[in-house]
Amino acid sequence: MKAIRRFSVRPVLPEPLRPLGDLAHNLRWSWHTETRELFRSVDPDGWRAAAGDPVRLLGAVPAGRLRELAQDRGFLRRLAVVAGDLQDYLTEPRWYQRAEGELPAAIAYFSPEFGITAALPQYSGGLGILAGDHLKAASDLGVPLIGVGLLYRHGYFRQSLSRDGWQQEHYPVLDPNEMPLELLREPGGAPTRVELRLPGGRTLRAHVWRARVGRVPLLLLDSDVEENAPRERDVTDRLYGGGSEHRLLQEMLLGIGGVRAVRAYCRVTGHPDPEVFHTNEGHAGFLGLERIRELSERGVPFDTALEAVRAGTVFTTHTPVPAGIDRFDRDLVARHLGDDGELPGVDVERVLRLGTETYPGGAPDLFNMAVMGLRLAQRANGVSTLHGAVSREMFSGLWPGFDTTEVPIASVTNGVHAPTWTADEVRALRDDPGDAELWELRRTLREHLVHEVRRRLYASWRQRGASHAELGWIDGVLDPEVLTVGFARRVPSYKRLTLMLRDRERFTDLLLHPSRPVQFVVAGKAHPADDGGKRLIQELVRFADDPRVRHRIVFLPDYGMGMAQRLYTGCDVWLNNPLRPLEACGTSGMKAALNGCLNLSVLDGWWDEWYEPDFGWAIPTADDGTVGDGPLGDDPENRERRDAIEAAALYELLEEHVAPCFYDRGVTGSGLPERWIEMVRQTLGRLGPKVLADRMVREYVERLYTPAARAHRTLDVPTAGRLAEWKARVRAGWPHVAIDHVESVCESVELGGSLALRVRVALGGLEPGDVEVQAVAGRVDESDSIAGADAVRVPLKVSDGPDENGSWLYEGPLALDRTGSFGYTVRVLPAHPLLASPAELGLVALPPDDLGAREAAGVLMR
Ligand SMILES: *Cc1c(COP(=O)(O)O)cnc(C)c1O
Repeated sequence: MKAIRRFSVRPVLPEPLRPLGDLAHNLRWSWHTETRELFRSVDPDGWRAAAGDPVRLLGAVPAGRLRELAQDRGFLRRLAVVAGDLQDYLTEPRWYQRAEGELPAAIAYFSPEFGITAALPQYSGGLGILAGDHLKAASDLGVPLIGVGLLYRHGYFRQSLSRDGWQQEHYPVLDPNEMPLELLREPGGAPTRVELRLPGGRTLRAHVWRARVGRVPLLLLDSDVEENAPRERDVTDRLYGGGSEHRLLQEMLLGIGGVRAVRAYCRVTGHPDPEVFHTNEGHAGFLGLERIRELSERGVPFDTALEAVRAGTVFTTHTPVPAGIDRFDRDLVARHLGDDGELPGVDVERVLRLGTETYPGGAPDLFNMAVMGLRLAQRANGVSTLHGAVSREMFSGLWPGFDTTEVPIASVTNGVHAPTWTADEVRALRDDPGDAELWELRRTLREHLVHEVRRRLYASWRQRGASHAELGWIDGVLDPEVLTVGFARRVPSYKRLTLMLRDRERFTDLLLHPSRPVQFVVAGKAHPADDGGKRLIQELVRFADDPRVRHRIVFLPDYGMGMAQRLYTGCDVWLNNPLRPLEACGTSGMKAALNGCLNLSVLDGWWDEWYEPDFGWAIPTADDGTVGDGPLGDDPENRERRDAIEAAALYELLEEHVAPCFYDRGVTGSGLPERWIEMVRQTLGRLGPKVLADRMVREYVERLYTPAARAHRTLDVPTAGRLAEWKARVRAGWPHVAIDHVESVCESVELGGSLALRVRVALGGLEPGDVEVQAVAGRVDESDSIAGADAVRVPLKVSDGPDENGSWLYEGPLALDRTGSFGYTVRVLPAHPLLASPAELGLVALPPDDLGAREAAGVLMR
């Protein structure tokens, strides 16, 4: 019989065991081994059955066992120690409390997904796990962050396989009462409610759940509340499902509702209000509009509010592919944010302009969330050095006239949370371990993985309809002595799940090599709407099902954090072969590195930055090494050629370098692969410290949050008003700014000499104080372009003016400090101390095209 309603009864713990409840409700257990060990000892079988989830465990432990533990002095002593440790962790001063500078009082961090533990399945992949790692590292560092997201009642889908290898999707039903969550309540006890007005008089209401991530609260908005109509209840049904209206409502709830949830949280708990709002990818971008609305409610005009809000906003972009960006129909946005919709009092035309793709090729009828994100944030960044460059290129159309190197998008390279992603065995390693010890460690981890793979493979085959009697072969799947390569990730086409299958004979030979075999563990989910991705999975599954190779290659369904923790630690080599430069950063290889797993990867994302031959191998790529469209365009023929070249390079590396290195035992008679072990040592010792989320969060604090907080404090409403007026004046006057004449007098064109520049500039109605006139100089190529990256920019000084034509004279010396082809130009930029970048307004005046020729004529005549 099917129940018509389900609810859960929370266990009542005997008084002496009360601290267990607190430990279960702070997710720090997910990265604290001692806490997990304590829970395991409560009921080892129950712990396994609960898949390592303390809340589920406590819900299932028999009352008799609880009574027993309440009397067990040894257990109570350990409980007191672990509970005391959590208390210390939550209250003692940490890095942030000792750091110097005008640090923000609080930061709100918005993300559409958070991957903290398998027990809170609110993530689909890298973006969410990164957000989870960001919160955990912030907690460890004492950074006063508040996480904001949505609670999806079905989370992301669980993956299984049909008999013929086609991906099947199931959506679990999650009950927040059975998860480590608490409802946020008003002082009177009623649940805090967030409301959004929707077109047609509808209302979207949400409750706010709070998860404790160490010291960091994570607020999750949940629209599945009884007061909502069915349509609104479903807004937070699942992650990345539904059509575009559904997505828009989710993003409105996340951005607009999220700000309201933060305000409520601060009001109820006394937490300081955030000075900085960080949006992890464009989905939460509406948070800026809500803050503009808050100000407009106090009578602040739109432009002033925009300046004040921008100052305290940080936007991180994660995708190097335009197709990865959220875009909505303009009309749909207008309908939802207009007078009849959610942001009354905010001019919807102004809102629409924020999301308009104003660059060549932009779609006039679409609203682009990333474009809005960039306009609503004074500070923006990509997630690796290479991705920063790709993003500057991709969005350069928003800053016409500027060199791509000047596009104001910085980069902070992602990192991973070591306590979450490092195996206990690795953490237990002594300083300076010997070769034998390291090798033994790697073998132990590989063996754990082999058992885990067999267990999962068995479960998958049972699920695919095989009987127990047919599955004896699974006991022989993978070999704990064989070089093990892992490959697991989502399956968008650029990640090239099946590149390894390009030449099946060659690949099979690798797997079955008589003395140097290689075995593969592969996993990955395709988006439910991506049949192309599902076909790739099926291709791989069918290959791996072949009895000839099935002991050497497996596809494991349902890639998630639980599986990932085993995979990254147990593999010898972590493979990544995306189409460069489409991997913004990639983090799985970092997690592998923390465990002494070597990377074998295309030089993309983080690996482009930190690859060294001591840490692994770089798969050569057939792009030209630059960023931008270039040879990676969508041309299928090109793509085919490129795949063929890169697959061949991958096989060759495996055959000639990776496998020989692994199987080369005992040059010195030790019986150990010494070069390999040395690479493991280098990876752990030198690469490990770079890939940490601690490092990443500190960089965010120092380079983005602190400057944003300072700007936020400076730009109070009166100052923001003056800045907005100034910007309006400069924008209005800009069409009249022009470079009329450039003259250079040069004593001698040799190293150490200098040019004396005299430039005549018309400023129209603007004043010299509104602008900077600059000489830009540097090496030039054949087409006379100045290389942006190493150009020098020299401000010129106003020396006279205005003359009868309203034109000002600027002068200054330009040092000739390098040999070779050298060129210069001049330009005029808006200048104001409160701009975060000279490109902020996207305005620049360059010399007219024929000025170079006129000036050359002038020089000749002299
Ligand atoms: C780290 C992680 C990812 C992201 O890995 P990429 O290298 O960015 O593909 C995806 N899924 C899970 C479960 C992870 O732990």
